[in-house]
Amino acid sequence: MPLRFFNTYSRQLEDFEPRDATGRKIDIYTCGPTVYSRAHIGNFRAYIFEDLLQRHLELRGYKVRRVMNITDVDDKTIRGAREAGIPLTESTAQFKEAFFQDIETLRIKRADEFPAATDQRYIEKMIEMIATLISRGLAYQAEDKSVYFRINKFPNYGKLAHFDLTQLQSTGRVKHDEYDKEHIGDFALWKAWDDDVGWESPWGRGRPGWHIECSAMATALLGDQIDIHCGGIDNIFPHHEAEIAQTEGVTGKKFVRYWLHCAHLLVDGQKMSKSLGNFYTLPNLLEKGYTGREIRYALMRVHYRAPLNFTWEGMNEARESLARIDDWLVRLRETAAGKIDKREIDMQPDQDFEEALDDDLNISAALGFLFEKIRETNRALDRNELDTGSAKAWLNWWERVNGVLVLEEEIAPLPPEIAKLAEARAQARLAKDWRKSDELRDELNARGWEARDTKDGQKVTRRAGG
Ligand SMILES: [Zn+2]
Repeated sequence: MPLRFFNTYSRQLEDFEPRDATGRKIDIYTCGPTVYSRAHIGNFRAYIFEDLLQRHLELRGYKVRRVMNITDVDDKTIRGAREAGIPLTESTAQFKEAFFQDIETLRIKRADEFPAATDQRYIEKMIEMIATLISRGLAYQAEDKSVYFRINKFPNYGKLAHFDLTQLQSTGRVKHDEYDKEHIGDFALWKAWDDDVGWESPWGRGRPGWHIECSAMATALLGDQIDIHCGGIDNIFPHHEAEIAQTEGVTGKKFVRYWLHCAHLLVDGQKMSKSLGNFYTLPNLLEKGYTGREIRYALMRVHYRAPLNFTWEGMNEARESLARIDDWLVRLRETAAGKIDKREIDMQPDQDFEEALDDDLNISAALGFLFEKIRETNRALDRNELDTGSAKAWLNWWERVNGVLVLEEEIAPLPPEIAKLAEARAQARLAKDWRKSDELRDELNARGWEARDTKDGQKVTRRAGG
């Protein structure tokens, strides 16, 4: 089956064909964080989906170049800095830093570029694009001195969101708070704004609108046309609709081949919000004792186009699922090392996992196959029937699978006090002091660690399901 994706633009599953003539190089643009506060787990659901997309494309032999922008100037970032009483750059710097920490914890591959909107060369690019749009009659400066995109002059406006423009009431000039636009749907390209956070432009001092930031950074780094553009479904309108209008208004070329959008994250069946007390950042979950890979698994396991309901039960299931993978790997490695003799079954991996992901990144099906394979091989291992060659083949298969999932347990050094207890227990076992060994096992247990005795000696790991 060919690789295919659901394109928001056509509302259809489409076979994937890159623009590049060799068919191997792909450009991806992903809307990144607005750095006015710490990102929440709903944001990370989208970033993990994009990570899965990139890693699967790489598994399939594509060379991916990905850009993720950082929105470091807009209404929210300016408000945030004002409220904190610090300069904008100082405010956004701390949240950028936090964002990079969080993506590392979640094992999200870094984009090739993280352009920031306030970078002078992108500001210049934005001004250049706005000037072109004005010269083509696609934009105008209003009485409030801001520059707006004239949506009535762009016939395709609304195509991405499948949005009927007549729904936006246009009764000539609409007075709308401080705005003075021709059409209520016209969006700001340049906001007149006389403040220390601002740039000079042919239209006076001001700052860019959020949408033009992405059009400028995407085309500056990836060119006029890109293969895949991703974001959350809340980005479809107006943000991505506006990106299309601005970019195509300037270049006259089709901007994006495939639009992929990730559905919402709910918490206990409700929209996440600070007032409901169900609003979580990554540090909130780490404080509760969950690890980065457990959170990664929990946010990844549902198909990206289906809403994901985040629950504590789901987090514990993630922990149990990972423990199953860990145990399976220990057993496979023991068998592959040839420490157990009698072998009868030759059981080789297949392509089910990858093929599930080829089908619009069907991760739920792919994980279903993974656990089915684990069950089957475990059954053969229980009966001492899996041969060494098969065990090695399954470990190689796991290497491929884990290249996409990135769920293998990190072999981090044990904390010093745990290492001390583990060492004391190993000594007790050597001395055949079983009582002491059991006491130390209980002691480890009480601290959230588990000691298991394997053929390779004692293994101490974080306790699952605790
Ligand atoms: Zn964007």
